[in-house]
Amino acid sequence: VLDASDAASRAWPRIDIETNPFKAAFPLFTQHPDIAFLDSAATAQRPACVLEAQKHFYETMNANPLRGLYSLSVEATEAIAKVRAQIAGLIGAVDEAGKPRANEVVFTRNTSESLNIVASSFAPTVLEPGDEVAITIMEHHSNLIPWQQACRAAGAKLVYLYPTKTGELTDAEITEKIGPRTKIVACTQVSNVLGCRVPVEKLAAAAHAHGGYLVVDAAQSVPHMPVDVHKLGADFLAFSAHKALGPMGVGVLWGRLELLEAMPPFLTGGEMIDSVTEQDAVWAPVPEKFEAGTQDAAGIYATGAALDYLVNQVGYDTVQAREQALVHYAMSRMVELPYVEIIGSIYWDRHHGVISFNVRGVHPHDVASILDMQGVCIRAGHHCAQPLLTWLGVENLACCRASLAFYNDKHDVDAFIDGLETVYRTFN
Ligand code: PLP
Repeated sequence: VLDASDAASRAWPRIDIETNPFKAAFPLFTQHPDIAFLDSAATAQRPACVLEAQKHFYETMNANPLRGLYSLSVEATEAIAKVRAQIAGLIGAVDEAGKPRANEVVFTRNTSESLNIVASSFAPTVLEPGDEVAITIMEHHSNLIPWQQACRAAGAKLVYLYPTKTGELTDAEITEKIGPRTKIVACTQVSNVLGCRVPVEKLAAAAHAHGGYLVVDAAQSVPHMPVDVHKLGADFLAFSAHKALGPMGVGVLWGRLELLEAMPPFLTGGEMIDSVTEQDAVWAPVPEKFEAGTQDAAGIYATGAALDYLVNQVGYDTVQAREQALVHYAMSRMVELPYVEIIGSIYWDRHHGVISFNVRGVHPHDVASILDMQGVCIRAGHHCAQPLLTWLGVENLACCRASLAFYNDKHDVDAFIDGLETVYRTFN
């Protein structure tokens, strides 16, 4: 058992992780009853209700939303509007009366596109030469390269906040790196490599104290924990449906209305205009201004079903309790294997579904291949976080990552641990 006596380590939820009431809801696990899917941080599995919702859209209301005045198209339009409001409510984008501010929710293709919109359309409106954008070294490339580009275009400087090797961002680091020149702070809420939570609220306070803005990459938090844009102090927030049980190809960008309204569009074309003349165009109001072209309407509809399943049918309390119990169990078993090196904190409660590690002397790709032969799916590589792996000094710029979701169980973890023992035996 990990150092449970340490003040840093909370008691883990002592719940039953042997029985699994959830797997049956996921058709992929019926097709592949023997796999241990430990790669949900890359993309989650989808429950039947999400696949059904996608089919239902095409079977019963398929029409291009916004383009038609006939009832089918209106039905599709209303279905999308409902999901928009659902998402606004889910992430706390509500007015004083608690009414969802649906027009603050922009549908995109994924987190990457959402963040590109902010870096391409918002950043140029606030960045001057000599200004700074601050990000953490823990960012996924999706929340890093767009800022490199934005800084290059504006003549601004990209400044990095470095955590301790276990992923803690100290107050001193925040105070030192975020100052009067900082116009934008962009951070992940949960690291896709270290699994740790970033103190987003503190970063927001520091950014706002200097008149800057906070952009939150919530790709790894929305699937695991309640997210509230106002409590976080976010000005923009992005996530992907596919990591939260929804379909691939649907992303969300939430932004404060006045900021979205002041920004130019990212893509232009159909659906995003009020009027067009030979030489000019007037943009449609937010959010349509940012939604050029035909969207994945069925995917958005299914995203509504996914988030409803996650939040209302399973519930974040259950999601968190199961994931914490599973991470605790997995890490307790991993520390018993002397050849396994956990990357980041050794405390289970610092890992929100994600455990990165290496097996001493074995390339991560070999670890993943041998695990695959035993039906265990993990990710190996740079996890789109090369600057982080470089800074951590991870050999070969690669590591293994097991990521857990509430639909995993003790048998999945046992298969994973057995697999690691096989990896060791194969190479020794
Ligand atoms: N940000 C984080 C923290 C991620 O983990 C990921 C995906 O792994 C992304 C952004 C990019 O998500 P997408 O590929 O859906 O754009």
